[in-house]
Amino acid sequence: MTDLFKDKRVAIFGVANERSIAWGIADAMYKQGARLAFSYAGEVLEKRVRPLAESVNADLVISCDVTDDTQIEEAFRQIASKWGALDVLVHAIAFANREDLEGRFVDTSRKGFAVALDISAYSLVALARAAAPLMTNGGSIITLSYYGAEKVVPSYNVMGVAKAALEASVRYLAADLGPQNIRVNAISAGPIKTLAASGIKGFKGMLHVVEERAPLRRNVTQEDVGASALFLCSELGSAITGETLYVDAGYNILGM
Ligand code: NAD
Repeated sequence: MTDLFKDKRVAIFGVANERSIAWGIADAMYKQGARLAFSYAGEVLEKRVRPLAESVNADLVISCDVTDDTQIEEAFRQIASKWGALDVLVHAIAFANREDLEGRFVDTSRKGFAVALDISAYSLVALARAAAPLMTNGGSIITLSYYGAEKVVPSYNVMGVAKAALEASVRYLAADLGPQNIRVNAISAGPIKTLAASGIKGFKGMLHVVEERAPLRRNVTQEDVGASALFLCSELGSAITGETLYVDAGYNILGM
């Protein structure tokens, strides 16, 4: 199949560079005929995102820091004025202060907790609310989670709590937006070496553990996640909403 996303308008929030999971998803959708819009957070990342966006003939490259409601509003104003409607929203955004991704979770500060939950979980709610009115023919929203949402993973700490909130938000958003035929799902991906991952203390060790113990005896790639996003966001996933799909070489099924 080469045109699963023919003429679909896809807004991608969360590309930082070519290693980003969001870039794997964008590339997969582009190869299936999607028209793309990219957001970037800050001038430093703009320099990375623009050339990538050009390489897939993106229609739009928009500045958007998701902590700022005005910037979210402006981003979707630009999408509306360029496309008139939107079919798919990809949310691949997370952040926690470095000091909260090591040591003990119990030491998380009030401020650190709020920052992590705001950027990594609330932003999905804010983007979904802005995107929904543009999804006039129905639509699909996906976000990225991780196993640390449900089990304790050393150093993942406050991000695990944020991912738990994110996965619960997926279910509540799916219930709210389902009557408009807007589906909302999460992919719980295995660890992949990206910019965000480099902030987690002992991240390399996580890759080793997965490779050694996961049923498929390997780590997952951007391409694995991209392919699963194609499934969830296209007609192939037409009756799936509110789900968290593991794309983790089977690691989550293990008890011991
Ligand atoms: P990444 O660093 O490439 O992407 C994270 C993105 O978040 C960046 O593009 C960054 O600009 C964006 N971001 C951070 N703060 C922002 C803000 N205030 N406003 C707008 N954007 C902001 O890393 P990634 O690993 O590709 O992360 C993408 C998603 O995948 C995240 O939700 C992450 O938690 C999740 N995830 C990653 C892994 C992994 O091992 N890499 C595994 C499972 C889930």
